[in-house]
Amino acid sequence: MVNLADRAAADFQRAEPRLAGLSIIVPCFNEAAGLPQLHEKLINIAQMLREKRGLAVEAVYIDDGSRDATYAVAANLPARGLDVQAIALSRNFGKEAALLAGLRNARYGAVLFIDADGQHPPALIETLVGHWRDDGYDVVYTAKAHRENEALLHRIGVKLFYRLMNWRARQRIPEDAGDFRLLSPRAADALRQLPERTRFFKGLSSWIGFKQLRVDYEPEERAHGKSSWNYAALVGLSIDGLTSFSVAPLRMASLLGVALAAIALLFGAAILYETVVYGKSVPGYPSLVVGLMVIGGVQLIMIGIVGEYIGKILAEQKGRPSYFVAEHNLKTAERERQDAAE
Ligand code: UDP
Ligand code: MG
Repeated sequence: MVNLADRAAADFQRAEPRLAGLSIIVPCFNEAAGLPQLHEKLINIAQMLREKRGLAVEAVYIDDGSRDATYAVAANLPARGLDVQAIALSRNFGKEAALLAGLRNARYGAVLFIDADGQHPPALIETLVGHWRDDGYDVVYTAKAHRENEALLHRIGVKLFYRLMNWRARQRIPEDAGDFRLLSPRAADALRQLPERTRFFKGLSSWIGFKQLRVDYEPEERAHGKSSWNYAALVGLSIDGLTSFSVAPLRMASLLGVALAAIALLFGAAILYETVVYGKSVPGYPSLVVGLMVIGGVQLIMIGIVGEYIGKILAEQKGRPSYFVAEHNLKTAERERQDAAE
């Protein structure tokens, strides 16, 4: 009789030769309804990649604490021509943590991140793979071709965010880049080596360097359900991204301080001049109050900014894992074939 546990352990260890394959990582939060449809498309792509390029493919579905049957659905998807991993996190940890879980559990060298909601066209995967295998690019990222269908406020926010993010940065983070991207084995390895816990993959994949390529695409409408981001969450993610990536806000705080001090100095000199030369007594109360309020407000904002960084330091310092895995299931194409034959 076969020992099922031994079989599972062997399957987890033995991916076909580590470099000649692609792990497709799909973070899922309440995506049960759309997974089978996406999986069908991945099966077709896997078949094509195997035939045309001799690439082995696996799909890694990470259930990020969904409230629907996402994990059950993912674990039951057929391993037809590609291996299927389903991983359930112990609760909702957020998309970045789900991506990290996928990256760590990927059994092949190259990895590709794709959303579960159908907004990232799977048909593009072949193009991305081509840029990696044929043209030697390490990071092939996609960017929305245009943002006309997004609200003006949103677009302004995005612009502002990247302005701040890239302010005097050595490695610019490309504007509009999404999480739909392919990483060559060495790029994926580089990402795995980064020790930080608060991750911002868009930024990190650019930060690691190597040969990067941008591919434009038309995002699709969500296949079902609705986006789990609202403005508050987006602002939160932006602040996280900014503070975990750049010290621009701190520099701005210092610059603003210098500017305010300079203005105050000039103002003081002007008052002194008027009093001494013209003997004018400057009317004080309103200007005092305005000055106090400006200084007080600016100081509070700056303390807030410093606090963001201290919070980041605290979170990193605590060193808690970014996620816990509750369930893990692997179905290999090979095993599925054997079992069907028996
Ligand atoms: N997602 C996740 N954890 C979360 C929120 C979202 O894994 O806490 C997944 C979600 O299932 C989807 C992807 O991340 O596959 C993008 O999410 P969404 O479509 O809500 O974001 P948007 O496309 O609006 O950026
Ligand atoms: Mg989406």
